[in-house]
Amino acid sequence: MTDPIYLDYNATAPVRPAVAEAMVEALSLTGNPSSVHQWGRQAHRRLEDAREQVAALVGASPAMVVFTSGGTEANNLAIQGAGPSRILVSAVEHDSVLAVAENAETIPVDENGLVELDELKRLLEESDEPTLVCVMYANNETGVIQPVEEIVKIAHDHGALVHCDAVQASGKTEIYMRRVGVDLMSLSSHKLGGPQGVGALVVSDTVTISPMIRGGGQERGSRAGTENLPGIVGFGLAAEISMTASAEIANAQALRDDLESRLIEAAPDAVIYGNEVSRLPNTSCIAMPGIEAETQVMALDLAGVMVSAGSACSSGKVRASHVLTAMGADDDAAGSAIRVSFGWQSVAEDVDAFLSAWLDLYQRHRSSNNAQATAA
Ligand code: PLP
Repeated sequence: MTDPIYLDYNATAPVRPAVAEAMVEALSLTGNPSSVHQWGRQAHRRLEDAREQVAALVGASPAMVVFTSGGTEANNLAIQGAGPSRILVSAVEHDSVLAVAENAETIPVDENGLVELDELKRLLEESDEPTLVCVMYANNETGVIQPVEEIVKIAHDHGALVHCDAVQASGKTEIYMRRVGVDLMSLSSHKLGGPQGVGALVVSDTVTISPMIRGGGQERGSRAGTENLPGIVGFGLAAEISMTASAEIANAQALRDDLESRLIEAAPDAVIYGNEVSRLPNTSCIAMPGIEAETQVMALDLAGVMVSAGSACSSGKVRASHVLTAMGADDDAAGSAIRVSFGWQSVAEDVDAFLSAWLDLYQRHRSSNNAQATAA
């Protein structure tokens, strides 16, 4: 039996061996980072080293980093803790933004998934209420990268704060938070080859957030609870390794581009979303109209290839992707899109295995459609 092929890095990336090693070593340490004795100080040093590593990944200073239990908590903390009562969210945000900002107003996107800047301006001009604008750096399904600097300029010109979910973008594209100017940025370790269940909200020094989790004064009062030191140590190292991983990113991009060009040549009616604008180098969102995403994911899994449906929620249930619907895709296309995402362990054979399984399904489906048409 051949090894399964993993092409679902945007869901979670395999933990890097050096990260696992550092975590095991950190687990063997005793000491609460808040304790003043020598073992406590040792744990505190590890925590602060990791804070520096994570800050460096996004061009921020360590004092701006608040460790959380992941990207979801970082998004919740940004929206609930930043202060403004009026929230504007792009139509393509992750559920961990959409579900928190229940009464938010939506900023539409165009057919490429890019935020409509004129609409953003119009919404901001409608009210003087303190406002938080939430626009992700790059989309988890399509990889489409937003014009974050322009969005920040428009928002700041209108006195609004900007929160940017950079969970998918960090480590895959260079981010300098200070230059981009966002006020709050969410990160997640397990998209970088670090452990699951760790993340950070990076908060500009001009913003004060009120904590969601209260108790001890950890994380400078922004997030109570003894820090998950082994997880944070792993996150820090994964962030540091990602900063020098340009060869891996170039490899992921070459594989993704090869997959897309071969796929379109063999299946010209397939649709690739977001490929006309700036995208993450590792992500491909492909619709095979007529075959539900869930069916494709299961058929590929049987063939030993793991990918995600365009929009799978945590229960694993697939529904039409709200991201693609916002981009104007009809229900058939939005319900038949899968996401292929590459990363640090991906190799050329993965593309061959994916194409062989996907094209097999495609051809079987097309020939059964042709047979039905002939019979009718
Ligand atoms: N934001 C985006 C864009 C994501 O893709 C994800 C996870 O898939 C999250 C937030 C949630 O991050 P976490 O899994 O660390 O809670």
